[in-house]
Amino acid sequence: MKTSKTTSLPWNEALRALQQGRSPLVITHRSPDGDAVGSLLAMGLLLKALGRRPTLACQDPVPTRFHYLPHHQEVVSEVPEGSFDLVISLDCSDRERMGQVYDADRLASLPLLNIDHHVTNLNFGTVNLVVPTAASTTQIIYELVQRLSVPLDVPLATCLLTGLVTDTLAFRTANVTPQVMEIALRLIRAGASLYTIVQRGLVEQPLSALRLLAVGLSRMQVEGHLAWSEVRLADREATGYQGDSDAGLVGRLISAEEIRIAAVFKEVKDGRVEISMRAAPGYDVSGVALRLGGGGHPAAAGCTLNGSLEAAKARVLPLLRAALAEQEDGRHSEH
Ligand code: 5GP
Ligand code: MN
Repeated sequence: MKTSKTTSLPWNEALRALQQGRSPLVITHRSPDGDAVGSLLAMGLLLKALGRRPTLACQDPVPTRFHYLPHHQEVVSEVPEGSFDLVISLDCSDRERMGQVYDADRLASLPLLNIDHHVTNLNFGTVNLVVPTAASTTQIIYELVQRLSVPLDVPLATCLLTGLVTDTLAFRTANVTPQVMEIALRLIRAGASLYTIVQRGLVEQPLSALRLLAVGLSRMQVEGHLAWSEVRLADREATGYQGDSDAGLVGRLISAEEIRIAAVFKEVKDGRVEISMRAAPGYDVSGVALRLGGGGHPAAAGCTLNGSLEAAKARVLPLLRAALAEQEDGRHSEH
């Protein structure tokens, strides 16, 4: 991150905010993934090392797969009474992503430090430390840890490496640079267990997840280089799968060499549909997600829509078809 491109990033403003806030409220995004939980707990440890007593909040519970992470029990889904003087948002590309734990009536007047790596970030903070070249939000927090000379112990290294490993699918994504590998090496040297993080954070799934995956694969639809599928609420009941993820379905769809863009439509509670999108290298789904009120990275993005599965497909699939056609044209004209 120490390239000329990033020298204008507000590192100093971010450090000042961290040092000035006495009672910070730290929030990560709803439906938390490994980078969300890892960055939340790592920021908690960093703030404690600075002598603060942070409150760590997330609308949804920490998934059991991340229960190897130290202090995961400290994450609250209801923000307690008390006065905060700083809000820190982690891995959220917009304010809405913080979910119900961000109560604007109570918090909007406070300084907001927005730390994120999504290219679609709306810069909604007072200080926006947004680094799209970072492979994970924990990579940005690692840099803050260095700049603040906070010692890297095993718990902190484990939280930081969890974000790096899960967001890069164990160093398999196109944004993995030598610098990412160097940071990972330092975290492993500090005592983080790469094996535990890969196994528990990424690989292991209950049998019910395999059953859900089988249902999702059986519903796969393919149209040229586009593939999609859906997961209904009834499928979760039938398979007994408790989590709210797609059990890895969209990752399987994009792994097909013929597929350039893939999407999974997940029916969730309260009449909403969550859409997970993936793009092969050279293609980009972040623009479509942003247009639909969501966000993400070029290769992995998503959004949440109100209404039925059918309505969501009718709205999203034409945009994905158009993005695919446009991006294929762009690629042909390059050659
Ligand atoms: P996933 O498909 O794994 O849930 O998410 C892929 C990427 O898209 C992640 O970076 C995630 O943060 C982002 N994303 C997924 N759903 C939403 C959403 O509803 N809103 C926003 N802003 N980003 C989302
Ligand atoms: Mn992330």
